[in-house]
Parts: sequence; structure tokens; C-alpha cells
Amino acid sequence: MTRFLASKQRNESPSARRIRAVHRRLVEAYGPIQAQRKAPIVECLVGTVLSQHTSDINSGRAFRALRERWPSWDAFGEASLDEIEEAIRPGGLARLKAPRIRAILDEIRAREGRIELSSLEPLPDDEVYAYLRSLPGVGPKTAACVMAFSMQRDAFPIDTHVHRVVRRLGWVAGKASAETASGELAARIPAGLRYQLHVLMIEHGRRVCRARRPLCSECPVFDFCDAGVLLLADGSAV
Ligand code: SF4
Repeated sequence: MTRFLASKQRNESPSARRIRAVHRRLVEAYGPIQAQRKAPIVECLVGTVLSQHTSDINSGRAFRALRERWPSWDAFGEASLDEIEEAIRPGGLARLKAPRIRAILDEIRAREGRIELSSLEPLPDDEVYAYLRSLPGVGPKTAACVMAFSMQRDAFPIDTHVHRVVRRLGWVAGKASAETASGELAARIPAGLRYQLHVLMIEHGRRVCRARRPLCSECPVFDFCDAGVLLLADGSAV
């Protein structure tokens, strides 16, 4: 088995081998990634919508308020937009997020007969992704987050840190949107590394490859990076 995997990796494209090398360096720098846990899919989906453009503390507060007001999705029933908006106000952007949550949960109930997504569990990754993306307002990042954080799937959500790091590394064009990057990288990152790279790149983006004044001179993947030399040369990195 080990020999089979080694020969499979030898036959990979240069791009995939480079991605593997970056993954190894990041694991050396930040340590191995803990195994994913399972969580109820609808909870994770709603939590991910609430987490958009706000802090973890605020989105957690909004999620708890929502569950205190409606302890089950059945109880959520016909909750009005005003009621939802009021409940999630502590999380910010409540006027935007309330109709989004209402529309997603209504669509799930229309398709599944109740607000429940355990029917996705047996489906392969591509079908799960397509289903989630077909829900109203669910973009690539939300779909990938739900797969990674509630279904233990090997997904690569592109948040603001990951987006910055993959562009600087030259894995996608400098002007590529998060959505474009998601589409391009989903197939290029070898299976088994996607979730791990997501977590490692967030850590790397927070600690070293920061938005302002990245620490390129101490970066563990400097020799794999297109941007590091340029950022050091123009003085925007240290
Ligand atoms: S060399 Fe600099 S820009 Fe490149 S990944 Fe490292 S910290 Fe980021």
C-alpha cells in the first residue's frame, strides 16, 4: 500500500508535488492537524452564514440566541423575518442574514420535508457540494465549510487568509477572486490534503503571511513563493 501511494505521488503533476511540499513545510512549522469532528449539517450551515463578515464571538452569540429562541428547527417553523432579525442582531448584519437563513431553511424543508440534511451523508463529495451550492445564497466558501466542519469531508474553504496565501504563493492569479480560486484549486490540491491545508494556511496567514508587513524573511515556504522576494524588495515585507 505504501509503495502504491509512493508511486502514485511520483506520477503526480509538478503542481501537485509542489503543493505536497508546501503542506509538509507547513506541518513542520505549525504541527499536525487534529482530526475533523462531525457536527449536525444544518447547524453548521446556519452557523457559517452567521459567521460571515463578523467575529467568532459575535456569530457564536447570534447562534446561541437563535437556538434559545427556537430550540429545534421544527420549532423554527414559520418564524418571521423580524423575529429572526431580532434574535441574531448580536451577530451583526442581521437584516442581510435573516432573509438568507429563512430562504435556506425554507428550501431545505421544501426538498426534504423537514429542516434536516442527513440525506447528504451517503453522497459523494461532488454531489454534496452541488446540493449545498444549489441552496439560495450558498457560495463556494459556505459549502466547503459545511463539508469540512460538519461532514469530515476533504474540502478547501477559501477564507480571507487562505485567499491571500494562495495568491502570494502563485497557486492562482493575483487577481483571482475567492470563487475563482476555489474552482481552480479544488481539483489541483491532492485528495487528503485539502482540509489540512485550509487549517494550516489560516495559521500561516495569521502568524506569518499577514496582510500587512508579512514576515517573509522567516517564512517556512519562502522558497516556494512567487511574492516573497518582491515584497521584501519593495519594503512591504520584513
Ligand atoms: S514568502 Fe512572504 S508572501 Fe510568500 S508565503 Fe511566505 S510570508 Fe507569504
